[in-house]
Amino acid sequence: MQLIDPTAFAPASWLGDTAPVVNFVLPCFNEQAVLRETAHRLGQLLDELKSLGLIAPASSAYYIDDGSRDGTWALIETLGRERPDACGIKLSRNRGHQNALLCGLMSVGGDALISLDADLQDDLSIIPAMIRAFRNGDELVYAVRRRRDTDTFFKRFTAEGYYKVLAAMGVEVVFNHADYRLMGRRPLEALRHYRETHLFLRGMIPQLGYRSSVVEFDRAERFAGESKYPLSKMLSLAWRGVTSFSAAPLRAITGLGGVVSLISVGLGLWALFIRLFTDVALPGWASTVIPMYLLGGIQLLSLGVIGEYLAKIYEASKERPRFHVEAITGAWQAGAPAQP
Ligand code: UDP
Ligand code: MG
Repeated sequence: MQLIDPTAFAPASWLGDTAPVVNFVLPCFNEQAVLRETAHRLGQLLDELKSLGLIAPASSAYYIDDGSRDGTWALIETLGRERPDACGIKLSRNRGHQNALLCGLMSVGGDALISLDADLQDDLSIIPAMIRAFRNGDELVYAVRRRRDTDTFFKRFTAEGYYKVLAAMGVEVVFNHADYRLMGRRPLEALRHYRETHLFLRGMIPQLGYRSSVVEFDRAERFAGESKYPLSKMLSLAWRGVTSFSAAPLRAITGLGGVVSLISVGLGLWALFIRLFTDVALPGWASTVIPMYLLGGIQLLSLGVIGEYLAKIYEASKERPRFHVEAITGAWQAGAPAQP
């Protein structure tokens, strides 16, 4: 048996006073409207953190182009020429935010990675606090939204309800945390062993364990451009969160079946009683047709839920790669991107 050297990936606290290499990972999909400003602000922050000695000079920003169809990649290449600490990875096509993020997490080296959105909604001013927490020994630092007042009422209501439903189903999630977080090298290496096709990183990462903490922030409005998460994509991510982490919907079908069976036994007994002990004639069509439609609906719904899990098994069994890298740009300290 081959044992892994436990010191191969040291926690931050073992780094002592040496400034860690902290790299930034930003998935970008059609973000040409905002990326220059993001790179400018992130560049300033990197300079500041380096001059304070909070992070090592080799720390860089990695922009992951998720198959953009606008000028995002050309812009990333320009950024790379302007600053040695701006690097890029181009995926061969659009794979979705979670896969693009995974590509960054699996490909970029360093003692810690901070993942954030490219649209400046994630407040950069809490990054020093995140890095300090890391240097104090927290290997996962979650950025959590203090309030949701920049959201529409609909989004706030559905998001809060969703977190509650997930928690009720036993899925461990950090409330009001999306994908703005710092991960140390050890959780990153642990994540490598998760071969899931349907990624829901905000559910997977808390499962890793390790010492963690939370830093609060206020989420701004998108700086420019439009949201790349329309309602359909958001619903699909939400459904993935439920079905990838919990078998509760399947169990709910069993429960529903039980309840419906009990009701029908009760109704049967009631009909028998009326027939045997009274002179009342039971109404005909309504008592036949209504339960028929009801049961038909419940059965189709249940089949649909089972089908969703079956589809997940089918897709996972193919074990297809989760992303393909087409090009890289900038000075790489971690070598070529890892294969998915
Ligand atoms: N994104 C991506 N691939 C996609 C959709 C989005 O890489 O298919 C990126 C996007 O560029 C942004 C982040 O994911 O950096 C979050 O997306 P967005 O800001 O549009 O979502 P919202 O904040 O509206 O939920
Ligand atoms: Mg956004």
